[in-house]
Amino acid sequence: MSASFLYGGIEGGGTKFNCAVGNGPDSIIAEARFATTTPAETIGQVIEFFVPYADRIRGIGLGSFGPFDADPASPTYGYITTTPKPHWGNTNVLGLLKEKINLPFAADLDVAVSGLGEATWGASKNDSHSLYITIGTGIGGGYIINGQPLRGLVSLEMGHIRLARDPQLDPFQGACPYHGDCFEGLAAGPAVEKRFGQKGETLPDDHPFWGLEAGYIAQALVNYILSLAPQRIIIGGGVMQKDFMFPSVRRKTQELLNGYINHTMILNHIDEYIVPPALGGRSGVLGAIALAIESTSKKL
Ligand code: ADP
Ligand code: ZN
Repeated sequence: MSASFLYGGIEGGGTKFNCAVGNGPDSIIAEARFATTTPAETIGQVIEFFVPYADRIRGIGLGSFGPFDADPASPTYGYITTTPKPHWGNTNVLGLLKEKINLPFAADLDVAVSGLGEATWGASKNDSHSLYITIGTGIGGGYIINGQPLRGLVSLEMGHIRLARDPQLDPFQGACPYHGDCFEGLAAGPAVEKRFGQKGETLPDDHPFWGLEAGYIAQALVNYILSLAPQRIIIGGGVMQKDFMFPSVRRKTQELLNGYINHTMILNHIDEYIVPPALGGRSGVLGAIALAIESTSKKL
């Protein structure tokens, strides 16, 4: 990784696109964010941002909101596919970028790319197997193994797993248009808003719902721990901004595991095991730079 080369990173989110030029967290030379409006307008702004640096950039990484086709062998690689977001369904984001910027591109789902950022420079930089989850407008996860996001038939869709809901305690039937009360349908920001008619930001800290919310997150983590055995779990997203949420999720995860996983990280160091992102709001854009570095070096 030579300091003389620059790389581009794009975190393409449903609300905004974050862009940066650099080669790591301490060497960002330019940064910008653009509202996610229409593909023509937003991608146009992204392209304009990179043009002045293009002859010094070696490659650009993109982490996109989903559903996103991240399979390089697929005919629709680089497309945002079936999103209900107006204007963005079936959009060839990567193609629009490549049309105007003649550089190598690499792309993956946003959560996979944020996970890669944390695995390269952040909270999981010393781990070979790490899990990044976001709990915001949606819920998703990226599992990074030795610097590679895990993908099989498709990208992971960790927000849509089934959880146990007690209808006495939580009569809400869920907000996921596909599954009703899946994890995202129960615990993402919009599910909180739909239940109470107000956003999570304004729901009081002592509202009993937050115990349920932490319980759903803990149930999901238990499933991930049992099936993937990550060495660290990083949780980002707006809902985790509540400062009691991490301690509550950690305690409930231990309770649900009930001593079954006999490892000191879970039994004695849970506060180092389930952690917020170390790169703060930059996990995604830095992860995109890490993806660009990784994929360009592979091609040489
Ligand atoms: P996105 O997922 O769109 O990238 P965020 O991760 O910021 O964005 O998540 C936004 C969601 O998180 C919204 O549904 C919002 O209501 C919720 N949210 C934001 N801040 C808080 C908070 N402090 N407490 C609870 N929910 C929050
Ligand atoms: Zn679902």
